Amino acid sequence: MKTAKFTRKTEDFDCAFCGTHVKGNGYTNHCTECLSSLHVDVNPGDRASDCHGLMLADSLERKKGEMFIVHKCTKCHHIRRNKISPDDNFEAILALSNGTIDDYRQNLLLMKKLQACVLKNKTR
Ligand SMILES: [Zn+2]
Ligand SMILES: [Zn+2]
Repeated sequence: MKTAKFTRKTEDFDCAFCGTHVKGNGYTNHCTECLSSLHVDVNPGDRASDCHGLMLADSLERKKGEMFIVHKCTKCHHIRRNKISPDDNFEAILALSNGTIDDYRQNLLLMKKLQACVLKNKTR
Protein backbone atom coordinates (compact mmCIF):
# COMPACT_ATOMS: atom_id res chain seq x y z
CA MET A 1 0.00 0.00 0.00
CA LYS A 2 1.53 3.28 -1.09
CA THR A 3 0.48 6.40 0.73
CA ALA A 4 0.90 10.07 -0.03
CA LYS A 5 4.15 11.80 0.71
CA PHE A 6 5.03 12.62 4.28
CA THR A 7 4.17 16.15 5.23
CA ARG A 8 4.60 15.80 8.97
CA LYS A 9 7.37 14.15 10.93
CA THR A 10 4.98 12.82 13.56
CA GLU A 11 3.21 10.10 11.62
CA ASP A 12 1.75 7.04 13.27
CA PHE A 13 2.81 3.70 11.86
CA ASP A 14 2.26 -0.01 12.25
CA CYS A 15 5.40 -1.90 13.16
CA ALA A 16 6.65 -3.96 10.22
CA PHE A 17 7.86 -6.67 12.59
CA CYS A 18 5.21 -7.16 15.28
CA GLY A 19 2.29 -5.07 13.99
CA THR A 20 2.05 -2.77 17.02
CA HIS A 21 0.43 0.55 16.21
CA VAL A 22 2.96 3.19 17.19
CA LYS A 23 1.88 6.75 17.82
CA GLY A 24 4.34 9.20 16.32
CA ASN A 25 5.59 11.82 18.75
CA GLY A 26 8.12 13.55 16.56
CA TYR A 27 11.20 11.69 17.67
CA THR A 28 10.26 8.03 17.82
CA ASN A 29 11.04 6.20 14.63
CA HIS A 30 10.97 2.74 16.09
CA CYS A 31 8.39 0.39 17.57
CA THR A 32 7.88 0.88 21.30
CA GLU A 33 7.27 -2.86 21.83
CA CYS A 34 10.00 -4.62 19.85
CA LEU A 35 12.17 -1.56 19.02
CA SER A 36 12.20 -2.39 15.30
CA SER A 37 12.50 0.35 12.75
CA LEU A 38 12.46 0.75 8.98
CA HIS A 39 15.35 1.86 6.81
CA VAL A 40 13.69 4.93 5.30
CA ASP A 41 16.16 7.67 6.23
CA VAL A 42 19.66 8.46 5.08
CA ASN A 43 19.88 11.21 7.66
CA PRO A 44 17.36 11.16 10.53
CA GLY A 45 13.92 12.22 9.31
CA ASP A 46 14.76 12.84 5.66
CA ARG A 47 13.00 9.71 4.25
CA ALA A 48 15.65 9.69 1.55
CA SER A 49 16.54 5.98 1.59
CA ASP A 50 14.81 3.65 -0.82
CA CYS A 51 16.00 0.52 0.99
CA HIS A 52 12.90 0.19 3.23
CA GLY A 53 14.41 -2.87 4.89
CA LEU A 54 13.44 -3.91 8.40
CA MET A 55 15.88 -2.57 10.95
CA LEU A 56 16.09 -4.72 14.07
CA ALA A 57 17.45 -3.47 17.36
CA ASP A 58 20.85 -5.08 17.74
CA SER A 59 22.50 -3.72 20.86
CA LEU A 60 22.71 -0.82 23.28
CA GLU A 61 25.38 1.81 23.22
CA ARG A 62 26.22 4.43 25.81
CA LYS A 63 27.54 7.73 24.55
CA LYS A 64 28.11 10.84 26.63
CA GLY A 65 25.79 9.54 29.33
CA GLU A 66 22.96 8.82 26.92
CA MET A 67 21.71 5.44 25.79
CA PHE A 68 21.26 4.63 22.14
CA ILE A 69 19.67 1.68 20.40
CA VAL A 70 21.85 0.34 17.62
CA HIS A 71 19.67 -0.69 14.69
CA LYS A 72 20.89 -2.98 11.94
CA CYS A 73 19.11 -3.20 8.58
CA THR A 74 18.20 -6.80 7.71
CA LYS A 75 18.40 -5.98 4.00
CA CYS A 76 21.52 -3.89 3.46
CA HIS A 77 23.20 -4.22 6.91
CA HIS A 78 23.26 -0.46 7.35
CA ILE A 79 23.82 0.47 11.01
CA ARG A 80 22.14 3.40 12.70
CA ARG A 81 21.95 4.67 16.27
CA ASN A 82 18.71 5.96 17.72
CA LYS A 83 17.98 7.59 21.02
CA ILE A 84 15.87 5.57 23.42
CA SER A 85 12.36 6.94 23.70
CA PRO A 86 10.63 7.30 27.08
CA ASP A 87 7.78 5.29 25.56
CA ASP A 88 9.94 2.28 24.80
CA ASN A 89 9.03 -0.94 26.54
CA PHE A 90 11.56 -1.29 29.31
CA GLU A 91 11.56 -5.08 29.10
CA ALA A 92 12.72 -4.76 25.51
CA ILE A 93 15.52 -2.39 26.53
CA LEU A 94 16.51 -4.83 29.25
CA ALA A 95 16.48 -7.76 26.81
CA LEU A 96 18.62 -5.70 24.46
CA SER A 97 21.14 -4.99 27.17
CA ASN A 98 21.49 -8.60 28.31
CA GLY A 99 21.53 -10.12 24.84
CA THR A 100 18.13 -11.85 24.92
CA ILE A 101 16.40 -9.53 22.46
CA ASP A 102 15.88 -12.36 19.93
CA ASP A 103 13.99 -14.39 22.53
CA TYR A 104 12.07 -11.29 23.53
CA ARG A 105 11.01 -10.66 19.93
CA GLN A 106 9.93 -14.27 19.43
CA ASN A 107 7.87 -14.19 22.61
CA LEU A 108 6.30 -10.90 21.54
CA LEU A 109 5.25 -12.37 18.19
CA LEU A 110 3.82 -15.42 19.94
CA MET A 111 1.94 -13.21 22.38
CA LYS A 112 0.48 -11.13 19.55
CA LYS A 113 -0.64 -14.29 17.78
CA LEU A 114 -2.29 -15.67 20.92
CA GLN A 115 -3.95 -12.33 21.63
CA ALA A 116 -5.37 -12.26 18.10
CA CYS A 117 -6.79 -15.77 18.59
CA VAL A 118 -8.40 -14.87 21.89
CA LEU A 119 -9.94 -11.70 20.45
CA LYS A 120 -11.29 -13.63 17.47
CA ASN A 121 -12.98 -16.14 19.78
CA LYS A 122 -14.50 -13.33 21.80
CA THR A 123 -16.35 -11.72 18.91
CA ARG A 124 -17.62 -14.97 17.52
ZN1 LIG B 1 7.28 -3.88 16.79
ZN1 LIG C 1 18.75 -0.93 4.48
